[in-house]
Amino acid sequence: MVSVNENYLKLKAGYLFPEIARRVNAFIEANPDAPVIKLGIGDVTEPLPAACREAMHKAIDEMGDRGSFHGYGPEQGYGFLREKIAETDYKSRGVEVSADEIFISDGSKCDTGNVLDIFGNDNRIAVLDPVYPVYVDTNVMAGHTGAADSQGRYEGLVYLPVTAENDFTPALPEEPVDLIYLCYPNNPTGVVASREMLQTWVNYALENKALILFDAAYEAFISDDSIPRSIFEIEGARECCIEFRSFSKNAGFTGTRCAFTVIPKGLKVTTKDGQEVSLHQLWNRRQSTKFNGVSYIVQRGAEAVYSPEGQKQTRELVEFYMENARLLREGLEAVGISVYGGVNAPYVWLKTPGDFDSWGFFDQLLQKAHLVGTPGSGFGAAGEGYFRLSAFNTRANIEEAVRRFPEAMK
Ligand code: PLP
Repeated sequence: MVSVNENYLKLKAGYLFPEIARRVNAFIEANPDAPVIKLGIGDVTEPLPAACREAMHKAIDEMGDRGSFHGYGPEQGYGFLREKIAETDYKSRGVEVSADEIFISDGSKCDTGNVLDIFGNDNRIAVLDPVYPVYVDTNVMAGHTGAADSQGRYEGLVYLPVTAENDFTPALPEEPVDLIYLCYPNNPTGVVASREMLQTWVNYALENKALILFDAAYEAFISDDSIPRSIFEIEGARECCIEFRSFSKNAGFTGTRCAFTVIPKGLKVTTKDGQEVSLHQLWNRRQSTKFNGVSYIVQRGAEAVYSPEGQKQTRELVEFYMENARLLREGLEAVGISVYGGVNAPYVWLKTPGDFDSWGFFDQLLQKAHLVGTPGSGFGAAGEGYFRLSAFNTRANIEEAVRRFPEAMK
């Protein structure tokens, strides 16, 4: 008899976005002419930068010629891309990361989930609340939790609330933890972490022999020079951190798929019998066995992000979305809503006005203003009373959404 991974049965997942879709579809069915604008999901809207497209066209032509054809590539990614990342994203900013510490992949979502392959099953795991749901659900799938309670909190995970009350700064865990997920700039709250705050976490990890899984998928949206873009800007981070980055949001690669994970070669974990094990080696082994690399064409496209034109074009893309974020923030503030984030991140996190809870405001916004956002409670219990709007949209949609905000307050 076949058995299944019954941990999957514990998942509450699939609740948030399907429920949004269900409510939106019901609304559209009842109001077929209502011009609904979706500000809910974190997918980009603007096309790929010209520099990336040109590089990919060229790579396709190379693939059509026996002399320059590429079959299987290195599982860790091509040297040309790893070198460019090391040089531009790290070395030129004074951060120590070498090309062979960078593993190219098809997404940060996959990597943040897959990385659990190299860790044991008895780690105590801390996540922020609200949180990017992938960190939680992948741990549920791996059997690292018990069942969820009525608020969707899984037994066995340590939740660190981040709300306006603590200025969105998570307190250090009161109980010992081993793996800590940090995401900055943050999805969903759109807030960033100061150098001091990150130093506090790195110190905690070093003192407690813990490891930080640092998701920097939105680092390109940081415009404030005092905010670290990489955890490796923090002293001691090379001894206790793994970093995840992506081309999805800065270069519009959500559908093209390219990302990378940085694991310092000296990052070691001690086994139960006292052996020191390199996480870099374990991840390399994992990737070589379970992954066959990102396509040559896509890696050439990602490499073009680092050309002078690519840098200019991706900067323009980021600025475009950040102008959207500014319009959203100011539009919300103009109708008296408290707004967080959206300054160094493409997400605006707002306090639901009046007596509305997260889903109540969802319905209000949909019914009155025909706008769709994401209820904060869908990202965790501490997200109740908050709501996320995404700046990934066309300018026309953002402007129209802002015009409609007053309707949502009636
Ligand atoms: N990490 C965070 C925090 C995200 O919000 C997202 C996408 O929304 C990802 C990772 C996924 O990145 P990728 O497209 O590289 O899989």
